[in-house]
Amino acid sequence: MEQWDYPSTVSLREVGPRDGLQAEPVVLDTAYKVQLVDQLSAAGLPRIEVTSFVSPEWLPQMADAEAVMAGIARRPGTVYSVLVPNLRGAERALTTGPDEITLFLSASATHNMKNVHRSIAESLTGFRGIMERVSGNIPVSAVIVTAFGCPYEGGVPEQNVLNLARQLVDMGIAEITLGDTVGVAHPRQVVNLVQRFQMVLPEVHLGLHFHDNRGTALANLLAALAAGASRFETALGGIGGSPFSPGAGGNLATEDAVYLLESMGVHTGVDLEKLIATTGQLIGQLGHSVPSRVYLAGGRMVAKGGTQ
Ligand code: ZN
Repeated sequence: MEQWDYPSTVSLREVGPRDGLQAEPVVLDTAYKVQLVDQLSAAGLPRIEVTSFVSPEWLPQMADAEAVMAGIARRPGTVYSVLVPNLRGAERALTTGPDEITLFLSASATHNMKNVHRSIAESLTGFRGIMERVSGNIPVSAVIVTAFGCPYEGGVPEQNVLNLARQLVDMGIAEITLGDTVGVAHPRQVVNLVQRFQMVLPEVHLGLHFHDNRGTALANLLAALAAGASRFETALGGIGGSPFSPGAGGNLATEDAVYLLESMGVHTGVDLEKLIATTGQLIGQLGHSVPSRVYLAGGRMVAKGGTQ
């Protein structure tokens, strides 16, 4: 008898081109970034975070955000989103016609100040300005980073995360992603937060973004899935998240998530072989290997349809 009731389908947002590449010391050519996004859409990733409209002074890796957005071939059905730090970034982003924009802030005050040089209240005020500017024309989602723990403050109270989510939803944000930015979450914590979130904000789409610094990302995905979550952010190869030690402790690898989910009969729409080939080319560009286990082992043993 089945003990857990999994969703039959999940929606993955591929964040490698943004979250992954911004952590790499090497700045890749615009033409290659465009090719990467097109390969990801061709591999069936339903949602792709293409780039970030952060100041080029802060993040030279994303200085060509407009050119990348202009260069990609929009695949029908694929949702292309961009990350926006402030109103200036939103103005830039809106000229490029994204399907969605994503805002971000930290659940912990110290991390938010270090990350974006703003208090949480200042971030929320900035978001209200962006929401006014967007005025309902395109969907806006938000990521609450350090939702499971902060490198400066340690534990983050669940209630703080839920209060922040409520304020974001009240502004008109319809999807909230909870980020385990430093890879400290554990499955029991994930289940508790997912269940409480769904209880207090049942109308809101909930996404999860796990990092694998301590080897818990797949376990956390499975826990979230069992608790009813069906939206996840992952990065091809498991790149990103650790700018000073590339290849170690990055995002949950898309290949690893797809392999696990498809093996269990949970549909992702992703062609694993195409994705692995895309990661192979990316490795050539980056000049170093990637942490994805499925990339290294190959994805050919996928047993479709769950228990057999
Ligand atoms: Zn990440």
